[in-house]
Amino acid sequence: MKIHVLKNIFQRNDNAARENRELLDTSNVTCINLLGGAGAGKTALLEAVIPLLADSLRVAVLEGDLATTKDAARIDALGVPVVQLLTDGGCHLNATLVQQGLQRLPFHELDLLFIENVGNPICPASFDLGEHLRISVLSIAEGDDKAAKYPILFKDADLIVLTKCDLQPMTDFDFDAVTRDLRRINPEAEILQTQARNAAGIDPLSTWLLSHCRPSSMASVK
Ligand code: MG
Ligand code: ZN
Repeated sequence: MKIHVLKNIFQRNDNAARENRELLDTSNVTCINLLGGAGAGKTALLEAVIPLLADSLRVAVLEGDLATTKDAARIDALGVPVVQLLTDGGCHLNATLVQQGLQRLPFHELDLLFIENVGNPICPASFDLGEHLRISVLSIAEGDDKAAKYPILFKDADLIVLTKCDLQPMTDFDFDAVTRDLRRINPEAEILQTQARNAAGIDPLSTWLLSHCRPSSMASVK
């Protein structure tokens, strides 16, 4: 019986995810699901990179959170459209909740949509939201064993971003060991090292995003 219930949950989710992807495709919007544990630095990464994209892409953000609008307020301060998705204690976003968020965004005025998932290295990765690409985030403050311990977070990522790399002198974080683990789990994804606080590594992130987005209709406006 439990298996049956789970199957229904995933089936409903996958249907909504398919509808979301169709809507995004029709509107020519590239959508990125940003995944990582609590405190990995997902919001800080968005704060650092979104200003670099502003000249080339029209960006919006769906912010997943259990209980607060703290991250949405940080994104709002950047001056881009943001919709808060509150899971009311739920530990992941699902495609139905994302669908509700999509309805509140100005689609014809967007090129790139980030969905910042709930901070959790486990189950968010199991739910397709209708995104085109996944970026998985690991802060070096979390420890160099986390790639091996949470492979589900990294195995389907298109890009893996290591954050807070400026903390390395205060930790025993072993970049070589983590890179070996990540390569074993996901041989394809590019791995970037970043420090959002001082913008190191944010240019390569912005370049990656620009090269993976559909051609912006802003180009024809200019
Ligand atoms: Mg956040
Ligand atoms: Zn969950």
